[in-house]
Amino acid sequence: MSQSPNSPVADAARQGQPCLWLNPDRIAATQAFTRLQMDNGQMLTASDRLARFAPVLARLFPELAAVGGIIESPLSPAPGLQAAFDPRHSFGRLMIKADHLLPVAGSVKARGGVHEVLEFTERLALDAGLVALGGDYSRLATANARNLFSRYTVAVGSTGNLGLSIGITAAALGFRAVVHMSQDAKQWKKDLLRSRGVTVIEHAGDYALAVAAGRETAAKDASVYFVDDERSDSLFFGYSVAALRLAQQLAAAGVTVDPEHPLFVYLPCGVGGAPGGITFGLKQVFGDAVHCFFAEPVAAPCMLVALMAPEGAVPSVYDWGLDNVTEADGLAVPRASEKVARLMRPLLSGIYTLDDETLLASLYQLHAAAALQVEPSAAAGLAGPALLQGSAGRFYLDAMDLTGRMAQATHIIWTTGGRLVPDADYQHFLARGRRAAVSRPPMASR
Ligand SMILES: *Cc1c(COP(=O)(O)O)cnc(C)c1O
Repeated sequence: MSQSPNSPVADAARQGQPCLWLNPDRIAATQAFTRLQMDNGQMLTASDRLARFAPVLARLFPELAAVGGIIESPLSPAPGLQAAFDPRHSFGRLMIKADHLLPVAGSVKARGGVHEVLEFTERLALDAGLVALGGDYSRLATANARNLFSRYTVAVGSTGNLGLSIGITAAALGFRAVVHMSQDAKQWKKDLLRSRGVTVIEHAGDYALAVAAGRETAAKDASVYFVDDERSDSLFFGYSVAALRLAQQLAAAGVTVDPEHPLFVYLPCGVGGAPGGITFGLKQVFGDAVHCFFAEPVAAPCMLVALMAPEGAVPSVYDWGLDNVTEADGLAVPRASEKVARLMRPLLSGIYTLDDETLLASLYQLHAAAALQVEPSAAAGLAGPALLQGSAGRFYLDAMDLTGRMAQATHIIWTTGGRLVPDADYQHFLARGRRAAVSRPPMASR
């Protein structure tokens, strides 16, 4: 990109200032998948597996009985936000992908985390002859199966939400479950896991340390299966299934996505697996018609640091003099997944960073204008559409020849978590957000 507005971005990011970075390595989707040597095969495999297990999940989780065991969230218009941002729709239509409502785990971690536990479960069950591939899986929710699973431990290292997803699912199936948590994980998440019979081990360090500790203990014991947030394919492709379902929801809502009707998606990013898997899937489904942007806290922009470095190097935010301290506990990750960074390099459109005040103001605005109750991490997408109207955003739209097509565009703000947050904690965030929103409403029309 010539005359890219990127040059001041590195300085701004190093100083912990909010910025919008445009990815200079993004290429056409077909070219990118050829270069990556990847197709939609593993996404479809994950989708099929989730379908095979739907009857099991419907039995294990009463909240899933009415939806046939499929863990999915609604896609909805956002009239209140639309009115605040762009009443005449000249910059497109706003929608919310409400993963903060996802059943079972209460966050975007549900699809990936549940998928990985089910993949392990399926392997054990097939090996033990409990079921045949594609047979009646509902017997995996019986005492006989639990007896087998209770001999194994499923372990994970997490800042919180992945731990909830893995711990709740594994414990419900009858596994022993162990969650290694970092110091920034919220107390209520530890309490909730313990109430489900999950063992929580607290570590004094950050997220990366909790993962390393979990990985190490699992390596010594063959009965321990470790879900590796930094490296797992099973998580990644479980997350990607969201794209197939979103495509159905968009079609059902009568929303066209093609080069004349671009789709913009704003995804909060931690280690990269969830937003990366979703981006991978969306690029498979919609190709160059979809434009994915990640949102990261100014104190923990690990994917920005990774993608601004030369291919192969994955520095941490500490290398940039940043401290990884943020209210967005789901995004407080110092170093991005190397694997996800490699996959995002040719696919991702850009990354923006935002400070905690803006996150909390976004949380408030989602409540005030759309009656959505999300956690701080999950509010990060809201600032996206307005940033796209700023100078760096306009540069992108011009370079992609999209400026004249924005009236037909759709913007999806992905709200990634919040359902399980206790009300007292939420009210606290809301009060802080209300104060922050007075000085800087994230989505005012400009
Ligand atoms: C984990 C999480 C994310 C980001 O997912 P990563 O796979 O860590 O990038 C976003 N929002 C919420 C609420 C999360 O819990």
